[in-house]
Amino acid sequence: MRRIQLSHGGGGEEMGALVRDLFYRHFGNEILLKSEDAAVLEVNGKIAFTTDSFTVSPIFFSGGDIGKIAVAGTVNDLAMMGARPLYLSCGFMIEEGLEVEVLERIVSSMAAELAVSGAAIVCGDTKVVPRGAVDKIFINTSGIGEIVCEGISAHALREGDLLLVSRDIGAHGAAILAAREGMELSSHPKSDCATLWPAVEALIQNGIAVRAMRDATRGGVSAVLNEWAAASQVCLEVEEEAVPVCDEVRGLCEMMGFEAVDLANEGTFVAAVDPADAQEALAVLRRSNPAAAQIGTVTLHKQGRVILKTGWGSRRYLELPKGELLPRIC
Ligand code: MG
Repeated sequence: MRRIQLSHGGGGEEMGALVRDLFYRHFGNEILLKSEDAAVLEVNGKIAFTTDSFTVSPIFFSGGDIGKIAVAGTVNDLAMMGARPLYLSCGFMIEEGLEVEVLERIVSSMAAELAVSGAAIVCGDTKVVPRGAVDKIFINTSGIGEIVCEGISAHALREGDLLLVSRDIGAHGAAILAAREGMELSSHPKSDCATLWPAVEALIQNGIAVRAMRDATRGGVSAVLNEWAAASQVCLEVEEEAVPVCDEVRGLCEMMGFEAVDLANEGTFVAAVDPADAQEALAVLRRSNPAAAQIGTVTLHKQGRVILKTGWGSRRYLELPKGELLPRIC
């Protein structure tokens, strides 16, 4: 069994072989293969730029792995700003002793996920650290995208806008939780980890007036709604029964005392849209996932707050999740 050695990050012959035989083979594109000190990019107009680091444990889980999440996570942050994902950087921090075969599974998963949006990794870095200095592998990706739809912003919500969610929520958090606890479940929750650009591109191409989009990662849907209420100084009123939660996630939440709205997602987004476009937007989203739903309305009742309305007619504030629900969720 071949393992990653400190020399694979040493900048010499072994590192050159790893870069050529593994990274270039999977990520190869004209810009990357030039092997210059920096990638030279041609970009027109406004760009979006974002970065994220990935430390998820376990590195392989139901529905994804650290490589898939490292590509989808950064691509999704670009998509949420109405930007077509174009170029990514990729930094690997690898623990000495990681099996080469494991690294290759992660890298080929990244390449497959890049193909979904058409983005390319155009520069990268490899560090190998002694055993125990990181846990197996950490990955950082940064990305830039071309803004194709301007004005999408957490500050743009208006009274009357409708709130949509792109699918059932909480699947990633539930999948990691179940994997971490080694739970014996009759049906295991599967992470929603996915690239959101195709769904976003369909919204834009259909001319939907999108005010805001945000992928509900750490902090879940609760965090997105609270961030928007504060940023736009509006009240978000959400119908609890309209929020889609699959049976596996609901069961796990009941067992562990979690709320699905607080659980992380890695391929689920919330959108605020003009009410005139809401039905069409929902139809477009349902082509990607039939569980997409309208969950609430923007009002001015309690500016800066999120109100959850239950089926019994009671109302309570939905707060930002507190503390660290699950470390190393992404
Ligand atoms: Mg985000």
